[in-house]
Amino acid sequence: MEKSPLKKIVTRFAPSPTGTLHIGGVRTALFNYVYAKKHNGKFLVRIEDTDRERSTKEFEENILNSLASIGLAPDLEPIHQSNRGDIYKSAAEKLINSGQAYYCNCSKERLDEMRSEQQAAGLKPQYDGKCRDLNLKKSKDTVLRLKTPQEGTIVVNDFVRGEIEFNNCELDDLIILRSDGSPTYHLCNVVDDFEQGITTVIRGEDHISNTPRQIHIQNALGYPQLEYAHLPLVLGNDKKRLSKRHAATSLEEYKKAGYLDSAILNTLARLGWSRGDKEVFYMNDLIKDFEITEIQKAGAIFDTTKLDYLNAQHMANLSIDEFIISIEPFLKNLNIKLESHNKYKILIEAMRSSGNTLKEVAQNLLCYYQYPNYYDQTAIEKFIGNSTVILNDLNAVISDIDDWTEETLDKMLVSYRESNDLTIPKVNQPLRIALTGSTKSPSLGLTLSLFKKSDVQERIEKLIEIIEQDN
Ligand code: GLU
Repeated sequence: MEKSPLKKIVTRFAPSPTGTLHIGGVRTALFNYVYAKKHNGKFLVRIEDTDRERSTKEFEENILNSLASIGLAPDLEPIHQSNRGDIYKSAAEKLINSGQAYYCNCSKERLDEMRSEQQAAGLKPQYDGKCRDLNLKKSKDTVLRLKTPQEGTIVVNDFVRGEIEFNNCELDDLIILRSDGSPTYHLCNVVDDFEQGITTVIRGEDHISNTPRQIHIQNALGYPQLEYAHLPLVLGNDKKRLSKRHAATSLEEYKKAGYLDSAILNTLARLGWSRGDKEVFYMNDLIKDFEITEIQKAGAIFDTTKLDYLNAQHMANLSIDEFIISIEPFLKNLNIKLESHNKYKILIEAMRSSGNTLKEVAQNLLCYYQYPNYYDQTAIEKFIGNSTVILNDLNAVISDIDDWTEETLDKMLVSYRESNDLTIPKVNQPLRIALTGSTKSPSLGLTLSLFKKSDVQERIEKLIEIIEQDN
């Protein structure tokens, strides 16, 4: 079903600025972006801000900045529906002049009554076409409705779902201008897709039922057909639509939590699309490998453990210098000046895989810059109890060491252990706790060598003091 390469593909992301950019939205933008780039086409953005009450400039800025910051900037300046009223009105006039739209003055009471009767009779509520052939003139009480064909079917050709057929008799005469003359969502959406030269609509499957209605408007206006791909819903672990109950939903939150852009995009790309067993993708791979017809129909579960896993892979693939640039803002938040550590490159190498996110790694680095602000009590009970003998012994052994290197320190640990017939955890864990507050650190000789000898001794003494105070 892929179109001939001669056709220039133009896609669009059309957010309503009524909230911050949701990760489901990023996924929609990503698929639009990748499909356009794969076909050397264009990716555009349209701000659907006709709902003046719920749309704000702040949300719009958040959406546009978030898109740009994650590498999905549009190829042209975004357009705003709120500026384009005249364009929609002239499209509506075209429909009136060609006899494909009519004014309707049915009152709210009549429509409500009709709806209740239809529901009571077990029918789908829809407008009965009372004003369809009355040739009413425009007045302050009239809305403009599209004359939708009453017979036959309309087929939506979807890259994901194949052919979806709708009976025209189930699609009533849609309102396209409200009584105050303002255009409705469907009219604006269709006119803009045409005006922006869109060839392919890629959006969430919640829009499927809008599609036959929008095709009727396109047909009435004589616009060319579009390609469609309706993406499966993004679900939480319980298979319900992803919401704040499951996980953070705004892109910003994931960035603040220390996930790399490339890992977020990788995770989102896999929501509804995959390529064999390949898990780690970068934008270039996506553009090369992505096939719109391979998008799955079933809802796609957004799983933060998957994101953690992919983020760890993407962090590991950064060069040390790229890693330092990426983690810098998280270190800054913790007032860590990376270079103030005399072995910071070795430190970063040793610690870069200590967490799944940049934020976690930054937190794990904190104890190399200041006293631990927390000691793992369970670990203290398990490995130290209330005897500080080993800590005191080690402090004495350490004070005799002049060659402060990983190798010498490792030898010191082995020899102390063997001469006292102690297990590795009995010796190593108390030292780790003294240095980092927890039992998590790289190999102990290396960890010790990342501190100055005087710092190690101070930390051992501090932990001894804490344990003795507690007893
Ligand atoms: N503005 C619509 C939304 O935010 C998108 C409409 C479309 O993509 O056609 O859900």
